[in-house]
Amino acid sequence: MPAHSQVPPRALADAERSNAATGGRLFVVAAPSGAGKTSLVNAVLEREPRLRVCVSHTTRKPRRQERSGREYHFVDESEFQRMVEAGEFLEWAQVFGNYYGTSRSALQAAFAEQCDVILEIDWQGAEQVRTAQPDCITVFVLPPSRAALAERLRGRRTEADAEIARRLAEAIVDIEHAREFEYVLINDQFERAVDDLQRILRGEAPDLGGPQRPAVQKLMAELLELP
Ligand code: 5GP
Repeated sequence: MPAHSQVPPRALADAERSNAATGGRLFVVAAPSGAGKTSLVNAVLEREPRLRVCVSHTTRKPRRQERSGREYHFVDESEFQRMVEAGEFLEWAQVFGNYYGTSRSALQAAFAEQCDVILEIDWQGAEQVRTAQPDCITVFVLPPSRAALAERLRGRRTEADAEIARRLAEAIVDIEHAREFEYVLINDQFERAVDDLQRILRGEAPDLGGPQRPAVQKLMAELLELP
């Protein structure tokens, strides 16, 4: 697999822009593994009929209930590499040893439905999308505490213990990148967090803007175990 620097993501073509003919907006939602991001996004999708999630490609093996084309497009490494080299991804990254990417065609398909689109991706992908499309709206989801994060990673039980420990360590690294996001949302009470995400999507959440909020600063210090 080539390094990122060899295949830089190119800017979006006009038809892919959130402000193009469809008027749809592009949201990026990132979080450490175990922050409850997917549940939040799924809950908000039920409330907002004009919202779609862009289905990513990955080289990870499907989990038991996952179906290709629904949670992800599952592909092997050689197909992923071919897509990278052909410039088919808006962004891509290696996460937990697997490759993940947002294909331009999946994004176009979502915009073609005259909807706003969410990319549920990691911070590395968010960085690339921010460069390609500075008018995207970025949201980072934080777990309410370090203990809750560990508990959620354990509770999922779809991964082996070693994998969970690795994800916990990587989650801490991910959390440092919350500072780069326009909105930071704390998933302490599920329904309230869904309300908060919905307000962000509607542009009605100036109170959730910026990682400098005292509640976020305090939580970040705990999550990162800062003195
Ligand atoms: P999981 O394997 O648990 O579904 O996802 C692992 C991580 O990969 C999550 O942080 C998820 O947000 C991230 N991810 C999923 N799809 C993409 C993608 O298309 N691009 C990037 N950069 N990250 C992704």
